[in-house]
Amino acid sequence: MPDHTTRFAPSPTGWLHLGHAYAALFAARCAENGRFLVRLEDIDGTRVRPEYETALFEDLAWLGLRWEMPVLKQSDHFADYRIGLQRLESLGLLYPCFCTRKDIQEEIARAGQAPHGPDGVLYPGTCRTLSAEERVLRQGRGDAYALRLDVAKAIAIAGMELQWEDRARGVFTATPQIFGDVVLARKDTPASYHLSVVMDDARQGVTLVTRGEDLLEATHLHRLLIHLLNLPVPLWEHHRLILDENGRRLAKRDDARSLRSLRDAGWSPQRVIEHLELQER
Ligand code: GLU
Repeated sequence: MPDHTTRFAPSPTGWLHLGHAYAALFAARCAENGRFLVRLEDIDGTRVRPEYETALFEDLAWLGLRWEMPVLKQSDHFADYRIGLQRLESLGLLYPCFCTRKDIQEEIARAGQAPHGPDGVLYPGTCRTLSAEERVLRQGRGDAYALRLDVAKAIAIAGMELQWEDRARGVFTATPQIFGDVVLARKDTPASYHLSVVMDDARQGVTLVTRGEDLLEATHLHRLLIHLLNLPVPLWEHHRLILDENGRRLAKRDDARSLRSLRDAGWSPQRVIEHLELQER
């Protein structure tokens, strides 16, 4: 077994629950002879709260986990994400999108059809065809805009089939077009999950990306971004999700399954670990 570097990358937007405990323990176990990192994915300034950040470190330590310091905090790295965006811009792969949610809904209604991707309805491409003059005019007058990836052009520039490997599921051919022209820098945040995650995994030398199978499709897009940004290609392993007693995946709003509540109810870290292993059979 190679000595992998893995990471657990929570967003401090709620209390950690059993699903997070599983993801963190899974990542740490895959790095038993390597390096285990924790990364704070805190670019969503509207939902992040400092008390969640403090609590997540307490919860992980309570579970018995130890990780390398210092912890990378994504909100400290907007200037770095900008460099990635500039590279994509220099390849002519980004365009400003001024659309509001309402504009997008109206455009979809007009088109009478709405292809769906993993993150919902695909962007209908309205701003892809704006003229250079219109873009300059709208940017100049201060209209808010996101930056979207022209995915068809990006695939054409990549010029070859890109493959990626899930250690447990095998080799996949990347199909990033399932996301359409995805947002890489949001109107309110000069980055996005998809951009920051690939840049940080590379910066931190992550060799094995472990995360829940709900993000398996995201890897198709990440593989393309890795190629365009000239980053090393890691290995992936997408693990199963922890479900509640009704078979639904746990969400941050399920307070009852938070590690805090379980601890208050007298659970020991060992009991959490056993409970998670039990579900595995
Ligand atoms: N911040 C992401 C989450 O909480 C992590 C995704 C990943 O590991 O790539 O779902």
